[in-house]
Amino acid sequence: MTKKTSPLFPDGLPEDPNRSNDPELLALIKAFPRLFRGEQPRVWSHVPPGWAGIMRKLCGDIDALLSDAQARSFQVQQMKEKFATLRFYWSADFRASPKHAATVTELDRLVDLARADSAVTCYECGAPGKLRSMGGWLSVRCEAHSGGHAEVQQ
Ligand SMILES: [Zn+2]
Repeated sequence: MTKKTSPLFPDGLPEDPNRSNDPELLALIKAFPRLFRGEQPRVWSHVPPGWAGIMRKLCGDIDALLSDAQARSFQVQQMKEKFATLRFYWSADFRASPKHAATVTELDRLVDLARADSAVTCYECGAPGKLRSMGGWLSVRCEAHSGGHAEVQQ
């Protein structure tokens, strides 16, 4: 057997930059087949270790909310941290569903709740955290993961 490599990439093709090897994300993809269908979100995603419980609860709440028909059009677009709090982007076409407006309202509420949780939960470990300026960027950290950076007064 010979191994073929592209001359541009003598060590083999680089990994698809849209794929994440984040173990927490891979666990969610496996745990919620109706939401992910075994696939990565469309846009590069990351589940911070300290927020894995929040993300798992959010996925569980969404999974419980959606009917099978609604779940068929649902797609997780991206999950990540942005400006120190959790982001969860999704798309769906619920127009065929008689309760589509109520479902969208409830989805927005669940995502807002998860974002509020992330604002007081350490990004690294899940302990209670506070928004800190980490010397150039903002992050929610517990005392142990603060790196000595002070809380941002809001
Ligand atoms: Zn921590």
